[in-house]
Order: sequence, then C-alpha cells, then structure tokens
Amino acid sequence: MTDTSGDVRLTGISKRYGSFTAVHPLDLTVPQGSFYALLGASGCGKTTTLRMIAGLEEPSTGTVCLGEQDVTALPPYKRPVNTVFQSYALFPHLDIFENVAFGLRRRGIKSVKKQVGEMLDLVQLGEQARKKPHQLSGGQQQRVAVARALINHPKVLLLDEPLGALDLKLRRQMQLELKRIQTEVGITFVHVTHDQEEAMTMADTVAVMNGGRVEQQGAPAELYENPRTTFVANFLGTSNFIAAEVHSVSGDDVVLTAGDGKLVLPRNRCAAATGPGGKVLAGVRPEKISLAHADDAGTVPDGRNRLTGRIAAASFLGVSTQYVIDSPVCAAFEVYAQNVERDPRLTPGAEVVLHWNPAHTFGLDAGQD
Ligand code: ATP
Repeated sequence: MTDTSGDVRLTGISKRYGSFTAVHPLDLTVPQGSFYALLGASGCGKTTTLRMIAGLEEPSTGTVCLGEQDVTALPPYKRPVNTVFQSYALFPHLDIFENVAFGLRRRGIKSVKKQVGEMLDLVQLGEQARKKPHQLSGGQQQRVAVARALINHPKVLLLDEPLGALDLKLRRQMQLELKRIQTEVGITFVHVTHDQEEAMTMADTVAVMNGGRVEQQGAPAELYENPRTTFVANFLGTSNFIAAEVHSVSGDDVVLTAGDGKLVLPRNRCAAATGPGGKVLAGVRPEKISLAHADDAGTVPDGRNRLTGRIAAASFLGVSTQYVIDSPVCAAFEVYAQNVERDPRLTPGAEVVLHWNPAHTFGLDAGQD
C-alpha cells in the first residue's frame, strides 16, 4: 500500500487579517515524499500558508490534513511537522551535537549518541560535533538546523526561506545539498522561496503564488514551458508576447493571425478562449527562436511559426548572443541564439526572419493584467 502519512492536504484554507485577505481560499495537495515549493514575490502569502500547515497561524476558513489526520485544531507541537527558518535559531551556548540532540533530550531520551551521529553524518557535519555554532559557516549552521529538525522524525519538514541569508554561491551548494537530504530521508518537504531558480532546482512541484492565490502549480519544466498566466510566464524567465487573434481551430491546433502573418499554437497550450476573433497573447521563450537573415527566408523549413523583423541590438554573451528585434507585431522581441556557426550578417539593422516550432508557443488570455 502507498504510504500517505506525509501527504499534506489543504482544503479551502484562507487567512484574513481584519479586512485584509492574505491568503484566499485555496486547495493544495502535496504527496508524501515530494519536494514542494511555494514560490512568489514578497507579501504574496506563502509564509502565511506555511505557518497554517505548521499550526503557527490559525486559518480563517478551511482544513489542514496531514496524512489521514485533520490537524486543523491541533497546536503546533502535536503536529508531525518541524519547521526550519531563515534564522537558524541554534542555541549558541550548546555545541553542534547538543543542538541536534535537543529534541530527543526534551522527550526524555537518554541514549542519543547513535541517532545524533547518524543525523550529523546525513548533513555531513560528523567532524564538527564539538564545535559551537559561531565556529561554523552560515551553510553549515543551516545544515545543523535541518538535522535538528529531522531528528524528531517529522512526517513533513517545512522550510521558510532557509537559504535566504546565504550568499549566492553557498545558496546554490545548499540547494543541491537539501535536495540530496530530502531524497535520502524520503519525507515531504514544503519549501518557501521568492527565488524562481531555487524553486526550479529543488522542487518536484512548484506552486506560483500571487496576491494570496496559487496561480499555477506543476513540475518546473511544465510551468516554464506551458505557463497559463502572464504572471507565471514573467515570473519564471523572459517571454516574448505577440498580440494575436484566433483565426480558426484545426484539429489539435489553434491558428492565429498576428499582423499579416499566421501563427500556430497547440490547442492544449492555449489558456485563452479559442472562438474565432478571440484575443490571444501568444508567448514564446527567447531561446526557442531561430534567426535567419531575410535573404535566406526561403531556407526556413515549412511548418515553423515565423515573423519578420529588424535587429535593433545584438549583445555577444559568449556561448550565445542576445538579439533585440523590432517586429511589426512585437516591439523588442528577445532572442537568445547559440553562437554555433553564427551568421556574420546578423548585426543591428539587418532584416531577419524569426522562426520556431509551433509546439513551443503558449497562448494566454489577452485580457489579463
Ligand atoms: P515574504 O517573503 O515577504 O515573507 P510572503 O509571501 O511570505 O512574503 P506573508 O508573510 O505570507 O507573505 O504575508 C502575506 C500578507 O499578509 C502580507 O501583505 C503581510 O503584510 C500580511 N500579514 C502577514 N502577517 C500579518 C499579521 N499578523 N497581521 C496583518 N497582516 C499580516
């Protein structure tokens, strides 16, 4: 039988502070053993959501279930969860061993050596057991905080911007490290971050939050390739948007008109209504686009989406070149072209054809802000 003891299920959960709604009613399911990231800008409600799972914040509506158990009315210490905060909150006067042993000792467990040793090995701090927290780096201290939380064998580990205080290099190392630890212990991690790269690197599933709502959730690649709102498209990288209109629907494709050109969009990647004349914002990521000099327009294979334009700027970035292209249907179109066999004619002022595989086009509702 599948183990569901570490499932997190939020049903209709919301949080109001007076007349302000920090989290609108939301439903969310995190399967046992997965790494789930709540991603969004400051103030979007991710910490409040995490705190409602922990029991540190009482929901205004809705229920929190952990596994089969409804824990909505339980205080934090009775829930099978532990939280790791950005401030490591280690005890400065205790050494690393005693910091990690703390939870066991509090429960009256006398022989802690084996368990603490295993935990310190898990976070690769076996050699540091007798040091005090101030003698460790920020990344090491954060690992102690993780070990201290995991030693209680929670079903779910909640992480609230745990890497926020670390510099970029250390943060990248710790992202991989946390992912390794999660895979090794196999428990559910719910991680709050405002850093899209961090969420994409670590999580199996990312929920993008905006204004107290989950706008979209899915696997990182799915969110990147197939965003359903302009907010998600822009939050997870750069997109080009082309204002278009539905011409017709043909089989699995939606045919759009943009200026005097036609674009094809897979129907299942279109989040807008597809009635004829409907307005659609067609999106495509900059690295999915190929560039050909206008003189070579005849060499572009059939079946590609194509637009014409003129290069406004080109910046050589080493492996790739970033082009900004003025096109009648999209000002400042961005294209990242790999510098393999770079065409020397592709300089500012050159007339070009942009072309890409229709499968890389996504369609958004043009009425969104
Ligand atoms: P950050 O990354 O800055 O922590 P967040 O996405 O985690 O942001 P929350 O901390 O969940 O956001 O806060 C969501 C909103 O609720 C914010 O506008 C915040 O000001 C508000 N808020 C949070 N706690 C309270 C409170 N105790 N009383 C009133 N408003 C609050």
